Amino acid sequence: MNHIPLANLKAILLDLDDTLYAYKPCHQAGYEACKVLADKKYTISNLDFDAAWKLGRDKVHHDLHGQGASHSRLLYAQKVSEHLFGKSNPVFALEMEETYWNVFLETIAFKPGVEEFLKEAKAKGIKMCIVTDLTAQIQMQKWLKLDLGRYIDFLVSSEEAGIEKPGKYIFELALEKLGARADECIMIGDSEEKDVKGAVAMGIKGYKV
Ligand SMILES: [Mg+2]
Repeated sequence: MNHIPLANLKAILLDLDDTLYAYKPCHQAGYEACKVLADKKYTISNLDFDAAWKLGRDKVHHDLHGQGASHSRLLYAQKVSEHLFGKSNPVFALEMEETYWNVFLETIAFKPGVEEFLKEAKAKGIKMCIVTDLTAQIQMQKWLKLDLGRYIDFLVSSEEAGIEKPGKYIFELALEKLGARADECIMIGDSEEKDVKGAVAMGIKGYKV
């Protein structure tokens, strides 16, 4: 990220997941904790859990494609309970969601170089806004865990915008909050499709990291 030029910028739009921190180790830790809990408390084998999670996740992705809630671990876990118990089990679903995110958040940490970049941008007086696909509550919890308020001014989630990247409105909402024009900003993210192409379609220069 440190190669990105900051001269003459009014604002930076930033993706959160897999841009500011590495997603995979956090997901893996959260998911494994769910499997341990399912095995211990509900005697569900790892194999059955894996199969039910995949079915649940795929169904939620399919049904809610393009919306923030398409990534909801609570909805995945609800479907897992329906596959495994033959009926909805809100106790199980809520327990899994809580376990997943608690362990996920315990694991979250900045990628190397990210904090230095944010510090430098902040010192230059550049406003920053997170532009992220997921529900507001968990993205705010990640914000708190990383203490992003030290550097970042605004958050836009796809739940709030009603559309995911590369949709236009999620970027428009960020520009509106920042009080900036597209040509005064850059967008930084890990996804060519969502972050870079989404930004470029709005006239915002995009950087893939
Ligand atoms: Mg990302």
